[in-house]
Amino acid sequence: MKLLVTFSRKGGHEPVIARTVKETGVLINVERAHIDSHAGEVLIDVPAESAETVCRSMVGAGANVKVLEDAVVRDENECIDCGACISVCPQDVFFLDENWHLQLHVERCVLCGKCVVACPHNALSILE
Ligand code: SF4
Ligand code: SF4
Repeated sequence: MKLLVTFSRKGGHEPVIARTVKETGVLINVERAHIDSHAGEVLIDVPAESAETVCRSMVGAGANVKVLEDAVVRDENECIDCGACISVCPQDVFFLDENWHLQLHVERCVLCGKCVVACPHNALSILE
């Protein structure tokens, strides 16, 4: 399950990820991170059965946590199965099936947004 974790670094900061791994014993897969001197935004992937425990620990460390049920979403009425999104996706989310229709492995998405920009029919969006 994907969780978007945001936290402030003003006035010193807790090492949110490290603290949570130590406290919960859950191995956290960091898929994307942007951290500067003021704040951090980290996309993590954790086993679904551990998500609640991880959320509780991170909130306890002062972070905000948002559960991302879906990542990229395709509007089937707009998609023309052109395949332009396939080559730009770093996670191999998209593929064409035997009927040349676009299919998605949504669980692989790391919300980079590259496919949203590349789609010529504005068929893709990201739920946040
Ligand atoms: S947002 Fe990024 S990772 Fe997700 S499907 Fe689009 S290109 Fe792939
Ligand atoms: S780029 Fe857009 S229109 Fe083309 S296959 Fe992907 S989602 Fe469909």
